[in-house]
Amino acid sequence: MIKYNLICGGEHEFEAWFSNSADYEVQLSKKLISCPHCRSKKVEKAIMAPHISTARRKQASRDKQAKAMAAMGALAAEIRKDIETNCDYVGEQFSDEARAIHYGEKDARAIYGEATPNEAKELLDEGVAIAPLPDAIAPKPKKKLN
Ligand SMILES: [Zn+2]
Repeated sequence: MIKYNLICGGEHEFEAWFSNSADYEVQLSKKLISCPHCRSKKVEKAIMAPHISTARRKQASRDKQAKAMAAMGALAAEIRKDIETNCDYVGEQFSDEARAIHYGEKDARAIYGEATPNEAKELLDEGVAIAPLPDAIAPKPKKKLN
């Protein structure tokens, strides 16, 4: 059995089953197929292509998105590793350390750690060069806080 989506001259779409595509051709040529809505015998196969291509486009865009996410994940892992290797984790001392380095009380070095939004704002107001790390690239704290 094969199902066709058919459309009549009055643009009524309907489904009809045939034993095979030849059966459809035979019934069509003998005018045995009529629209269930208006009885019109002027019927033809409704075009299915747009539906299929939309599904394919969606799949293609999903694949593209998945690839982009994977690439971003790999990049984030690289940055995270770079931070872990080259920066000192100072935990909740972050704002004190950043300030000390900024004012030359301590030797300049790359650090990362925790700061509350208020602390971060204060540091930025003082002109301390800091940047928030998105979760994806922030290394996991080496020691448990609190
Ligand atoms: Zn019709």
